[in-house]
Amino acid sequence: MSTPRYELPRGGANPSSRGQGTTPGSFANAPELGRPHAFSSPDTPGMPQPSPRTAWDFMPRDWRQQADGRWCAPEGFVPITQLEHSRLGTVTAEMERVAEREPHLTPEMVRDEVAAGRMVIPANKVHLASGLDPMCIGRASTTKINANMGASPVSSGTDAEVEKLHWAERWGADTVMDLSTGGDLDATREAIVKNARVPIGTVPIYSMIIGRRIEELDERAVLEALEHQARQGVDYFTIHAGVLREHLPFVRSRLIGIVSRGGSLLAKWMLHHGRQNLMYQLWDEICEVMRRYDVTFSIGDGLRPGGLSDATDRAQLAELETLGELTERAWRHGCQVMIEGPGHVPFDQIEFNMKLERRLCHGAPFYVLGPLVTDIFPGYDHITSCIGATAAAYHGASMLCYVTPKEHLGLPKKDDVKQGVIAYKIAAHAADVALGIPGTRDRDDELTKARAALNWEKHFELAWDPDTARAYHDEDLDVDTDFCAMCGHDWCSVRISKEITEFLSGKEEAYAWDLPVVSAALSDDQRAILEKRGVLTPEEIHRLAGKTRRAMGAGRGHRASCHSDVASDDQAHELQSHELDPVTLEPLAGG
Ligand code: SF4
Repeated sequence: MSTPRYELPRGGANPSSRGQGTTPGSFANAPELGRPHAFSSPDTPGMPQPSPRTAWDFMPRDWRQQADGRWCAPEGFVPITQLEHSRLGTVTAEMERVAEREPHLTPEMVRDEVAAGRMVIPANKVHLASGLDPMCIGRASTTKINANMGASPVSSGTDAEVEKLHWAERWGADTVMDLSTGGDLDATREAIVKNARVPIGTVPIYSMIIGRRIEELDERAVLEALEHQARQGVDYFTIHAGVLREHLPFVRSRLIGIVSRGGSLLAKWMLHHGRQNLMYQLWDEICEVMRRYDVTFSIGDGLRPGGLSDATDRAQLAELETLGELTERAWRHGCQVMIEGPGHVPFDQIEFNMKLERRLCHGAPFYVLGPLVTDIFPGYDHITSCIGATAAAYHGASMLCYVTPKEHLGLPKKDDVKQGVIAYKIAAHAADVALGIPGTRDRDDELTKARAALNWEKHFELAWDPDTARAYHDEDLDVDTDFCAMCGHDWCSVRISKEITEFLSGKEEAYAWDLPVVSAALSDDQRAILEKRGVLTPEEIHRLAGKTRRAMGAGRGHRASCHSDVASDDQAHELQSHELDPVTLEPLAGG
């Protein structure tokens, strides 16, 4: 009887790795750089197709297209924004830097994506002058994550927020939003921008209502606050201009109404004054402020759903259509634009949400909060949302706004920030690998080799959070043994597999040890991780460094008794010099 063979779906040939291992490749679409499908998931039937239009279709009215297709600005025009430079064919220093950080893109590709409106480089001129390291957000690049912080009226202060900023940067936040609503907002924002290497975003309406009621907000106060924050160096603003009066009746039957702070404040303003959203009315003037400093729009979704029950409803989708209109108008002003998205969305609706935004907003980068895929796990919403965020990134989001375990419950503290950032790095990275973004799987493959070689030092070095990985390992065994405490020596399948296939298990020079290596003493951070687990007493934690070494006989100059390689190093090198058949383990013909 023959073994059935299964045809694998045709995919993009997985350029996310250098072809290591036996996997057949990503099932995502083949990459189409320079087009709306740069890195994209195959469509479930019925999904909206990308918009046929880009930012090139929404040029300033006084620009002219020449016979050769290039665009020409009016006499005396001085480009300011990255979008304007790209429209004129210029590769800026920031585009060069972005290409350095995204090695699969050239500076010209970055310029072209910015010009099409599918990529933004949030880089306020003021922040650029004070230490910002430019990055990009867009489908052609790797998926980015944002960490929110900010003092609240009941908790935290400027120093604590700056400390959280550094902490978020350390664990991989690509941008940070200062959402302060309490304390000295101005000083906190100033300090965060000054200390940040990553772009900083804010929701300016929060500072607009300090010292006044929302009903008292007027046009002048809006424009003054925006100008002030732009002058401070904020790189992107969330502005909830898409919530319109005519959308508000759609909210009535929702279970949880409006959950966006900006959205609810502006709804109250509209109801009080009986007027249209003043941010919408002021849009052209707001664009002019944004352009002067090259502050990027993050057009807010004030009607995002606050529970699964309200997802993808009429209110949310009506607002999304308005966000498309605002995008077109901002592009005409030369401003960079990204769009904010939901929130709480059942898993099956995520793809539709991502692809509808791509259509209605002509490919402007989508920046989504989560989304949470279930509502019944408060305390674990970094997990419920990171599941949704992975699907969102795979289906079209360009940046994921993290959620911490404190979501819906309180202001995140330092460790919550770390948990949120790491959960979202997992989501972003998983999607990038699945989409086949070149090189993104290389580190996974290197870690797999270190794991196969049972090289714990290399394992920790490649881990995203080496502190936790080492602390957990050393809690039980603090020496580079041929197994770990999870299964023990006799049941360690990796050890047994290594004995069977020295070559295939990665016993290459860079991974093999001559002698067992004893872990360095626990660092303060690693000790804190174990203390938090509460499994060991502090005294036991301090004793950790010596216990396994003695038990395994891994003294200086001696191989630990558990380090049971069956092949000598010479034999292993001999094996490595041949190509082996992965099934028979015999040298291949001509190997
Ligand atoms: S003991 Fe078990 S968990 Fe640990 S390395 Fe071996 S197979 Fe993996």
